[in-house]
Amino acid sequence: MAKDKGFDLTRVRNLGVIAHIDAGKTTTTEHLLYYAGAKHKLGGVDEGTTETDYDPEEQARGITIYSACVPFEWAGHTINLIDTPGHVDFTAEVERSLRVLDGAVVVFDGQKGVEAQSETVWRQANRYGVPRMVFVNKMDVVGANFAQTLQSIRSRLTPNPDEQGRPVPIVIPIGSGGPADSRTPFSGVIDLIAMKAKFFDAGDYGKTVRVADIPEENLDEAQEYREKLFDALTAHDPEDLITSAVLEGQEPDPVKVRRLVREQCLAGKIYPVLAGSGREHIGIQPLLDAVTLYLPSPLDRPPVTGTDPKGKKEQKRKPDPKEPFCGLVFKASWHPNGNRFFIRVYSGVMKPNMRAYNPGKDVKENVAKLFHVHADPARGLEEVESGPAGDIVCVVGLKDTVTGDTLCETAHPILLEAITFAEAVVSQS
Ligand code: GDP
Repeated sequence: MAKDKGFDLTRVRNLGVIAHIDAGKTTTTEHLLYYAGAKHKLGGVDEGTTETDYDPEEQARGITIYSACVPFEWAGHTINLIDTPGHVDFTAEVERSLRVLDGAVVVFDGQKGVEAQSETVWRQANRYGVPRMVFVNKMDVVGANFAQTLQSIRSRLTPNPDEQGRPVPIVIPIGSGGPADSRTPFSGVIDLIAMKAKFFDAGDYGKTVRVADIPEENLDEAQEYREKLFDALTAHDPEDLITSAVLEGQEPDPVKVRRLVREQCLAGKIYPVLAGSGREHIGIQPLLDAVTLYLPSPLDRPPVTGTDPKGKKEQKRKPDPKEPFCGLVFKASWHPNGNRFFIRVYSGVMKPNMRAYNPGKDVKENVAKLFHVHADPARGLEEVESGPAGDIVCVVGLKDTVTGDTLCETAHPILLEAITFAEAVVSQS
């Protein structure tokens, strides 16, 4: 039965997880899906059975080559998780996914810090103005160091924070570096806004979260990071949401603090930083919460630009279902029951049985049915009755369309900006 989601666009997050290869992007993605209940069984990247690596070639090679989109629900939001490749050879694929997502989580290896390809994806995200958060992963690994990783992000990615934005921790690890380290073993995280500790029961894949007071020995460090967070926030607080409370030494209202974090994240002034371990299931729940709290909905993003294919005049389309339909085909994948085309809808509404115009090829395509593709094989392909602006839908059986093509209404043609590949060749350390 076709189903209409009755979209509230403010509750949609088109999310990408981007990283240097081996930073733990696939593992973290898997655990996001598992934790949110979008799948009932964890695959293992080391066995090549993860959800976003569903292409047989990807599974065989153990790397994520092609982008796919997996929707799931969290805290009353629909998160469309757009997988991005983590290998330098597939930079063009990363570029394509960056065009269709609204916000990103950049995963870093907490032991290795910033690596060559992290710089590449960070610059690409800058180019597309993608608001983002940082997840310092692998905090359980021997030698992992949160402060050093943060420092390497500052020195290599944001040396001029006033222009490039500032990475600011909102969730820090309790201990790190594994049992061989002289520090406390990594066991949980501290939420610097709520000023609470969170411990995760790994026995149930981190699903049981125990909220506790911050342990005595971690209080000073937490207080220090919290002050830095407030310093960063009060630097851009035109509405005086928290500044006067901070100046008067009072506790600012956490709701207002979160609102300010969100505003500044959307404006690219700060990058909220969180810590955890994808593999040990630690910190996944705070990361999911932060995605819904701080990253943009499609409505928060600027209008998409393109040209009138005949007059070559610039056109803009707002993320509004009342505008004429336009969308970008960002991935086409082979499938025995008919090739699947993933389309990011930017404006208007895509409907089953519509004729869509492909202005690049000057052909009309029949759109028979629209689907959402779910992570849980039990749900698989779900037919939907509409794909409104901001949504990502899957269409089967287009004839002449390929990845990168625009689809739109014949009466209102628009050719969306071509994808540029300026940074496609970058050496890897
Ligand atoms: P990707 O290339 O960024 O997608 O990285 P993967 O998710 O494939 O992870 C690369 C390797 O690191 C795999 O062997 C994972 O099991 C391992 N790994 C990922 N996350 C963690 C983590 O949080 N802790 C530890 N100890 N290992 C991890």
